[in-house]
Amino acid sequence: MSAEQQVKKEVILKGIPASPGIAVGSAYLFIKETPRVEEKNLEENETPQEIERLGHAIEKSRKELHKILTFAQEKIGDAKSKILEAQIMVLEDGVLIGAIKKRIRSEKKNAEYIVNHEIGKYANLMLMAHDEYMHERAHDMDDLKNRIIRNLQQEKLVSRLEGSIIVVAHTLTPADTMILSRNHVLGYATDRGGITSHAALFSRSLKIPAVVGLGDVSRHVVTGDHLVIDGYSGVIVINPSKKRIQEFESKLERMLKFESKLVHFKDLPAETKDSHSVELSANVELPEELDYVVLQGSQGIGLYRTESLLIDRDDFPSEEEQYAEYKKIAARIYPHRVIMRTFDIGGDKVAPETAEETNPFLGWRGIRVGLDRPDLLMNQLRAMLRASTRKNLAIMFPMISTISEVLKAKEYVQKAKAELHSKNIKFNDKTQIGVMIEVPSAALCASRIAAEVDFLSIGSNDLTQYMLAVDRGNPLVSQLFREVDPAVLITIKHIINAGHKRGVWVGICGEMAGNPLVTPLLVGLGIDELSVIPSVLPEIKKIIRSSYFKQFREIATEALQLETAEAVEAHIRKFFKKHFPDIPINNNN
Ligand code: PEP
Ligand code: MG
Repeated sequence: MSAEQQVKKEVILKGIPASPGIAVGSAYLFIKETPRVEEKNLEENETPQEIERLGHAIEKSRKELHKILTFAQEKIGDAKSKILEAQIMVLEDGVLIGAIKKRIRSEKKNAEYIVNHEIGKYANLMLMAHDEYMHERAHDMDDLKNRIIRNLQQEKLVSRLEGSIIVVAHTLTPADTMILSRNHVLGYATDRGGITSHAALFSRSLKIPAVVGLGDVSRHVVTGDHLVIDGYSGVIVINPSKKRIQEFESKLERMLKFESKLVHFKDLPAETKDSHSVELSANVELPEELDYVVLQGSQGIGLYRTESLLIDRDDFPSEEEQYAEYKKIAARIYPHRVIMRTFDIGGDKVAPETAEETNPFLGWRGIRVGLDRPDLLMNQLRAMLRASTRKNLAIMFPMISTISEVLKAKEYVQKAKAELHSKNIKFNDKTQIGVMIEVPSAALCASRIAAEVDFLSIGSNDLTQYMLAVDRGNPLVSQLFREVDPAVLITIKHIINAGHKRGVWVGICGEMAGNPLVTPLLVGLGIDELSVIPSVLPEIKKIIRSSYFKQFREIATEALQLETAEAVEAHIRKFFKKHFPDIPINNNN
């Protein structure tokens, strides 16, 4: 083993695929140090000079931001550049700047100190608003404050870099993403995802591969490290071996060739050659993803994870706040349907309230929290019902494990409807109610549960975890997490049959649904709806449209006879080679 190989171990991290594409290159670790601010007392006669210094720094910041704005407008358009415009407006706000100048005069303190305090005050107020949007604006205010302070200290943030780079950062503000993209940026990888989704949004507009929500990638990487970033599957590899790079390079080649042929599938239905239709919809976590979802030709949203409303806050959003959000989403997706899931908190998910539990995955999760906290559930149900007036919103309950839970949850829906009715508030009385089947007990009783609801949606992530008793976040056992394990496949078949017997449709919204390799199996098993990560929509549609339902049924029947996950995988690969030789098989999905 060479010395280099000894030092640089290959590390693979999995995050959220935010912008498709694959990049191979050197890492640039973007660390934006918050400037240090000292408090200095001024003599009376020093204040005019200090105010002049402040004026220069503001002017410089304004010019910088204008430059970034022009660049952003050219690259990503006016609408998406509004965030930067807002920062310039703050700089041009006479009241705020006037207040800073007044304080320098009256308190006789240095400009850095007053700027830090005065703008910091606004940022803190925004943070206290417990509103996701305001939190993002607080971030922007902080960014602006640091820009002025850096300009007062005349320190330049390095933004011109040599060569091509993959930017690795804890988080990226819109201005950071723009400035950095003036270099030859091959990709972005960030620790944070979700709330700081500007990086994801911008990188999609800039068509640069990005993976967000990687947890602690910025602690694993140093500038100069060799990296592969795969925006299709959300994988990044630090110090990849030559073989690994070749694998990704050929995957990219296959994907590009393949993608160029996918464009015309966008507006076509997900229908087999013998006219068997499957509803193909998308999983969504953030409203920012909606444009992309529509662009990818989705037939709606099969799972809207409302937990994103809870990120970075320590209370639950009010009914009004939720209503505004759900209404916006339903309007954007209309005439297609959006399935809104009630808060699925607990387990690995964020929550303003958490319980100390030794075994959280078997604990206070999903509907259990909702039923224990009816005030929260009712707020959410009323908000969802109010947003249902276009008749394209359905409600779904997570982590159902017994029929009694379904009955109780439905009682709350009735109660919420009665309350709205008594207040003459409009809603769709025929709003579809469904449940996730992701706990083995619910899977076994699927037929009885189906009798109580309008649809079932299989949560294959949790179902696999609970069926096989494998925590896939645990590296000691994660290789045992196999979605095509015969036990899982047999259970999926059982759920589909149970639903159909009761006349309700059955979908699947776990990650398995978005794995193109499994598409023939799921369609062949008779699934009615696939809800997938948006980036794979066209690929899955192509697979469905390229074959006959008869063939899918055949492979599904054969797979159900096999005894191991390995045998099922091998069987699928053989099927792909034979029937879809032109479809690149994504090994990293
Ligand atoms: C699932 O468990 O498959 C699912 C879709 O729910 P989540 O991943 O949000 O737990
Ligand atoms: Mg789940």
